Amino acid sequence: ARGGWPEYLADLNPEQRAAVEALDGPVLVLAGAGTGKTRVLTTRIAHILASGRAWPSQILAVTFTNKAAREMRERIGRLVGGSVEGMPWLGTFHAIGTKILRRHAELVDLRSDFTILDTDDQIRLIKQVIQADGLDDKRWPARQFAGRIDHWKNRGLMPEDLSEGEGRTFGNGRGRILYAAYQERLKTLNACDFGDLLCHVIKLFRKNHDVLADFQGRFRFMLVDEYQDTNVAQYLFLRLLAQNNPNLCCVGDDDQSIYGWRGAEVDNILRFEHDFPGATVIRLERNYRSTAHILGAASHLIAHNDGRLGKTLFTEADDPDADRVAVRASWDSEEEARQIGDEIEALQGKGHSLDQMAILVRASFQMREFEDRFVTLGLPYRVIGGPRFYERMEIRDALAYFRATLQPADDLAFERIVNKPKRGLGEVTLKLVHEQARARNIPLMQAASDLVQTEEMRPQARNSLAGVLKSFSRWRDLIETLPHTELAEMILDESGYTEMWQNDRSPDAPGRLENLKELIRSMEEFDTLQGFLEHVSLVMDADRADGADAVNLMTLHSAKGLEFDTVFLPGWEEGLFPHQRALDEGGRSGLEEERRLAYVGLTRARDRVHVFFASNRRIHGMWQSSVPSRFLDELPAEHVDVVEQNTNYGGYGGRPYGASRFDKAEAFSSSSYTTPGWQRAQKSGRPQRPPQGRAPMIEGELVAKSVTATESLFSVGERVFHMKFGYGAISQIDGNKLTIDFEKAGRKRVLDSFVERH
Ligand code: ATP
Ligand code: MG
Repeated sequence: ARGGWPEYLADLNPEQRAAVEALDGPVLVLAGAGTGKTRVLTTRIAHILASGRAWPSQILAVTFTNKAAREMRERIGRLVGGSVEGMPWLGTFHAIGTKILRRHAELVDLRSDFTILDTDDQIRLIKQVIQADGLDDKRWPARQFAGRIDHWKNRGLMPEDLSEGEGRTFGNGRGRILYAAYQERLKTLNACDFGDLLCHVIKLFRKNHDVLADFQGRFRFMLVDEYQDTNVAQYLFLRLLAQNNPNLCCVGDDDQSIYGWRGAEVDNILRFEHDFPGATVIRLERNYRSTAHILGAASHLIAHNDGRLGKTLFTEADDPDADRVAVRASWDSEEEARQIGDEIEALQGKGHSLDQMAILVRASFQMREFEDRFVTLGLPYRVIGGPRFYERMEIRDALAYFRATLQPADDLAFERIVNKPKRGLGEVTLKLVHEQARARNIPLMQAASDLVQTEEMRPQARNSLAGVLKSFSRWRDLIETLPHTELAEMILDESGYTEMWQNDRSPDAPGRLENLKELIRSMEEFDTLQGFLEHVSLVMDADRADGADAVNLMTLHSAKGLEFDTVFLPGWEEGLFPHQRALDEGGRSGLEEERRLAYVGLTRARDRVHVFFASNRRIHGMWQSSVPSRFLDELPAEHVDVVEQNTNYGGYGGRPYGASRFDKAEAFSSSSYTTPGWQRAQKSGRPQRPPQGRAPMIEGELVAKSVTATESLFSVGERVFHMKFGYGAISQIDGNKLTIDFEKAGRKRVLDSFVERH
C-alpha cells in the first residue's frame, strides 16, 4: 500500500478512483480514448474482490473480444496478486450467453449439448426452409434472408416480436413465417445460430422469473467495456439483469462507436441515465496514452462530427521533441507498402520493438500488399482479429478454383469447391466419386468425369457435376490464350462463386468481394497463374509470428481498445477511407461513423502516427487517380508534418474539401520509380510516372494519364502489341475493352490494360 491506499487505487487519478469506488448503483463512465476506462473496469473488479464485496463468480464482466477478456483476466490477477481462475463470467456477450443457455437450454426447448451453427450450415438450413415453403431460392436467396435474421436478432426480435410490416418482408410477404419455420428447424436439430445465444436467453429470462431472479441475485456486480458498441439485444440482456440490483458499471466513448453497420446503437449510452435512474455519470478527461500532437490531431478531426456528447480531453505529455502526425504521399499501394516497410526497419534499427508497431487498414483487402512486402523483407508479422489475407475463406476458395484448373489431380482443391457455391452435389454423390477414385487410384476429377458418363448418379447430380467438369476443361483450354488475370476473373464469375457473395447480405460479404478483387489485382505482378500460385504458397509458408516480436496488422475495427507506440494508417483516400459503401449507404451518419473510425485509428498511438495516401489505386479492377481523404484536411496544421515533399503546400486548414492541400499532383514524391517492381507493373497497365527530371508536374497531365486505365485512349486503326497475342490493329473500342485483329491470333476482345501502343 502507498499513502494509505491499496497500491491499485494509488495509481489512479481522483475521477478514476471515484469510478472504481462507486460500487453501489448504476455508473456510466463516459470518456474519450486513452483516459483509462478499461483500466478503471479492471481496477474496479480488483477492488470488489480485494474489499470482499463479492466472489469472483458473482461478477459479470463483458469485453468486446475474447482477447480483451484474456488480457483483463491477467491484469486483475496482477492487481490482486494471484490468479483469478474463478471468474467464470468474464467474457464476450456471446460467451456469456452460451454459458447461461447451456444451463437452461430445456426452457427454450433445446438440450444442453446444443450445437452452434456456423454460417455455412445456417445458410443451408435457411435454403431448405425457403424451398420447403415452395419459394424459388434463386429469387429469394438464403444468404439474403440470413442477413435479415441477423438484423432482427441484433434487435432482440424473434418471429413473434416482428411488427406487421416487418413480418411481411421477404419471400412474397412470408418473412415471419419463414423465420418461424427456421427457428422450428433449429429446435428440431438441437441447434442455435449466433444471434440465438442472446435472444434465447432474453426470452428465457422473460418467461422464467425464477431463473432471472437467480441470475440477478448471483451477479452482484456487472461491468461492460466498449458500451457504445452494444446492440439492442445486448442492452435488453443487461437491463433484465440490472432490474433489481443495478450495480451496473458501463464504460464507453460515443466518439468510438464504430459498429453501427452491425446493429450497435450508440443511443444505449444516451439513454443510460434515463433507464437507470440515479446513475452516477463520471467523466475522465486526462488522456494517458498519446502525445499532445496525436491527441490534438484526433480531437480536431472528431470535432467535425455533429451530435456528439462532447468531451474534454487533455494530456500532460509535454515532450518538446515529440513527433507530429506525419502525412505522406505515395505513388500507389505498392510504394505505400514499401515506404511503411522501410520505416518499420528504420525504427527497428533504432531499437524499437516490432510488437509496438501496428498497421491499421480500413478494408481487409489492403493487407495483401503489406503481407507480400513483409514476406519479401523477412519481417515477422501477425494479423489480429482475422486470418491472414491468403488464408481467408474466400481467397482459399478462389485459389482452389485456380489450382483445380491448372492441376486436375489436385484433389484437395477440387473437393473444396466442387459444391461451392451449392450445386446440389450432396454427400451421396461425393461419396460415389471418392469410391471410384480410390478403387482405380485416380484423381477425383478423373473419377468424376468417368462417372458422369454412366447412370450411377441421379440425373440432377450428374448434370450438375458434368457442368462443373465442362467448365474446368474449358478454363483449362484458355490457359495458354487468355491473360491469366482475365482467366481468373472468368473462373470466379462463371463458376458462380462471385455471385454467391454478391447475393450474400451478411455484413462481411462486401469485404470478401473486395478481397477477391484484390486477389486478381495481385496476380498482375506475375506472368502466369502458375507463377502466382507458387508465390502464394511461399507467402502461406512464411513463418508464423506467434509469440515472437512481430508487426501487428489489422483492420481499424479490430484495433479498438488497443495501443501501440507507432501506428501506420495507410490508404487515406476518398472512396477507401471514408469508404464508398459507408458514404453510399449511410449518408451523413455513414460519414460520421467513418470519421469515428479515423479517430479510433489515431488514438491507438502513444508516440507516433504515420498517415499515408496513394495517388493511384485500383478500384473495381481499374486504375484511378485517387483523391486524398477529406480527413487529411481535417487534421490541424499545427500537429501535422507533411513528410518528404518536394513542393510547398502552404495554405493549411480552412480550405473547403475539393481544394485539398493534398492534391496528388503536388503531393507525390519521386524517390523510387525505377525499381524492378515498377518496371514489372508497367506491363499491366498501371498508370505511368512521368519520366524523371520532368518537373514540375502539372495536375492535368497526371489525371489524363490515369484516365487511360478507365477509359481507353487508344484509337481505331492503331497498331498495338498484346502480351499474349502479339501485334495487331484495333478494330473496335468499347470502354476499356478493345477488339483487335491480331496478325497471328486473329480477332480477339481484350482489356486495354494488357495492350501497349506500338
Ligand atoms: P480506449 O478508449 O482506447 O479503450 P481507455 O479509456 O480504455 O482507452 P485505457 O486503455 O484503460 O484507456 O488506458 C490507456 C493507457 O493509459 C493505458 O496504457 C493505461 O495503463 C494508461 N493509464 C490509464 N490511467 C492511468 C493513470 N492513472 N496513470 C498512469 N497511466 C494510466
Ligand atoms: Mg478501453
